[in-house]
Amino acid sequence: MTIPNASVKPVLETGQDDVIEGPLYAAGKRIFPQAAHGLFRKIKWAILVLTLGVYYGLPFLRWDRGPGEPNQAVLVDLAHRRFYFFFIEIWPQELYYVAGLLILAALILFLMNAVAGRVWCGYLCPQTVWTDLFYAVERLVEGDSRRQRQRQVEGWTFNNILHTAYKHTIWLLIAWWTGGAWVLYFADAPTLVHKLATFQAPLVDWVAIGILTLTTYLLAGHMREQVCIYMCPWPRIQAALTDEDALNVTYRYDRGEPRISLKAGLAARSLGQLAGDCVDCNQCVAVCPTGVDIRHGSQLGCIQCGLCIDACDAVMQKVDRPHGLIAYDNENNIKRRQAGLPSVRRIVRPRTILYTIAIVLIGSTMLTRLVTRPTGGITVAHDRNPLYVTTADGTVRNAYTVQIVNEQSVPRNLQLTITGLDNAKVQVIGVDGHGPIFPFQVEGDNTRDLRVTITGPASAPAHAQIPIQFNVTDPENKTQMTATDNFKTP
Ligand code: SF4
Ligand code: SF4
Repeated sequence: MTIPNASVKPVLETGQDDVIEGPLYAAGKRIFPQAAHGLFRKIKWAILVLTLGVYYGLPFLRWDRGPGEPNQAVLVDLAHRRFYFFFIEIWPQELYYVAGLLILAALILFLMNAVAGRVWCGYLCPQTVWTDLFYAVERLVEGDSRRQRQRQVEGWTFNNILHTAYKHTIWLLIAWWTGGAWVLYFADAPTLVHKLATFQAPLVDWVAIGILTLTTYLLAGHMREQVCIYMCPWPRIQAALTDEDALNVTYRYDRGEPRISLKAGLAARSLGQLAGDCVDCNQCVAVCPTGVDIRHGSQLGCIQCGLCIDACDAVMQKVDRPHGLIAYDNENNIKRRQAGLPSVRRIVRPRTILYTIAIVLIGSTMLTRLVTRPTGGITVAHDRNPLYVTTADGTVRNAYTVQIVNEQSVPRNLQLTITGLDNAKVQVIGVDGHGPIFPFQVEGDNTRDLRVTITGPASAPAHAQIPIQFNVTDPENKTQMTATDNFKTP
């Protein structure tokens, strides 16, 4: 095994002319991000409240689907193999809708990335949302980042042990409720809550809650930014998908450099010397949840949360310089400004148009299919062994299993007819009548298998495969479902 030369120091190219040197491996240091205040922090709070509110509250939302049907708006009913989403009911044979939804979600992610970089990571990703919540609890219990650092230096005093225990208890409660909310999507939520409270819930629910409690506690409480930097594949994929026109959180070094302290900058400017707007206060680094210094250029660790924009804007306000030293921008614009050209925002470009067209096409196709989809289905399976039977009188008999699906919640009275083979004798086992129309009923939200035998006429040709149709008609709403198969002769 070849061990890389640890003395070789990699260099990171930045958007500027300088390079940063660093070791190949450095042990992770705990990050104490300072609280940020500003527009992007407010947006993040709003998204946090909205997404967590939806996640924890949705299982309790009711949706009337008629008698005998579950009234939970969003429910994965594993026992009956159904997925309910408000007015939509997905059956196992319609899982392609779920595949379509996943493709749609991926395309939306690509579009967001093409417009404004890692918006998903910075604002919407569950890891970001829960980590933000856990940080908020930490600050509430242990104080701001300065106080937290002090506590680390103080060590395990009684007061620190008390605060740490308090913090971890709240974290575990949040984690427990997160796992608890997850299982509520798989059963009637109020009933399951009652069963959990009275310790009557099935073991599988306790195991699922236990696993999710542990993962939430570890990922959001302990691993935090490490998940984004080391575990998540999206930053690597995203880097391959982005282009130079995407708007990313960018340090505008054309304006910020040469960075200089406020006092020295004032003096330099009064002497007509060059001084950048960056006062090197490090506030942008202090608020960063992943410990990134955005002034070193675009980095894998930057989740594009915009908190450094808030921090820097507050500093610019104080030093009486314009906002936006760090902003959603790109390298192209920096180069344009350096060349004396105005900045441009190219949101509408071939890449974004292509993604939008794909999203609209797939979304509208799925919606049309959902609205116009039949409320039932029919499949026919020809008996394979034997394919046919020659009876004593020389005629040939084929047997089939016809499965009829009723996706309506009420029983349906249907009629089966078989066409394509003249003078055939048809029998449907367990159904009254001698044809050509066989009436039968299928319970609501159910399937029914019919065993059908067809005896061909004596005149049926040898070595033949005669196409036949199985038609199921609903006389009430005048709809028909058809499946085809063959009548085979020796
Ligand atoms: S917050 Fe703004 S002024 Fe302060 S170091 Fe960062 S970029 Fe420079
Ligand atoms: S560098 Fe700025 S945008 Fe990137 S993660 Fe840190 S605070 Fe968020």
